[in-house]
Amino acid sequence: MKKLIIAIDGYSSSGKSTMARRLAADIAYRYIDSGAMYRAVTLYALENGMIKADGTPDIAALKAALPHISIDFSPAGADGRQHTLLNGRDVEHDIRSLRVSEHVSPVAAVPEVRHALVAMQQALGREGGIVMDGRDIGTTVFPDADLKIFVNASARTRAERRYAEMQAAGTHVDFEEVLANVTQRDHIDETRAESPLRRAEDAIDLDNSRMTLEEQDAWLRARFNEALKKHG
Ligand code: C5P
Repeated sequence: MKKLIIAIDGYSSSGKSTMARRLAADIAYRYIDSGAMYRAVTLYALENGMIKADGTPDIAALKAALPHISIDFSPAGADGRQHTLLNGRDVEHDIRSLRVSEHVSPVAAVPEVRHALVAMQQALGREGGIVMDGRDIGTTVFPDADLKIFVNASARTRAERRYAEMQAAGTHVDFEEVLANVTQRDHIDETRAESPLRRAEDAIDLDNSRMTLEEQDAWLRARFNEALKKHG
């Protein structure tokens, strides 16, 4: 049976990573969190002085550094998650900080960064059997994906989720700050010139504001089964 390519796009903290990861585990496909890759490049830029005083990336320095940045994913650990590796270092915790969240969208708007990461993402998905989540997976990375989902929920619901996640990870932040970051990232992601956040025309919409995790899993599994019948 053909192994499918599944693209799950949507707004910040819409729960798309959680649903993508859970589906991948359920159907024994590989899960790739493309946002983690943009976050890893951003962490690299922050650690290597490539973010200017005004908070914008130093594009020339970033371009020159790209060949020296390698991003991998470890196999799933005890927590059931695969960890993001930046030049071999486990940065899974560090890339989720508010500092990285605050700088990631401008870094992800740099065309050279996108070209490099899109090429890596396409290489990871070449064989199929992959669930990838992000902003431009169904439009730019895999325009021919077998199943495309576009996830949304209200900005407040999404900020509450991100806040709860950060609290659980022991990061203490102000809720209003998280809400402001979510809305600001949406804005930058939607208005950038290079592959902006946009729903693919052939995507299936999901508003999960009022869904439990289990309802969401069942909904996605049903869409997967339909896609498998059609393309598998
Ligand atoms: O998914 P997550 O919120 O972790 O992604 C972090 C940021 O990375 C997004 O706000 C967006 O700016 C960028 N991103 C992107 N394209 C993707 C995935 C993420 O531009 N495919």
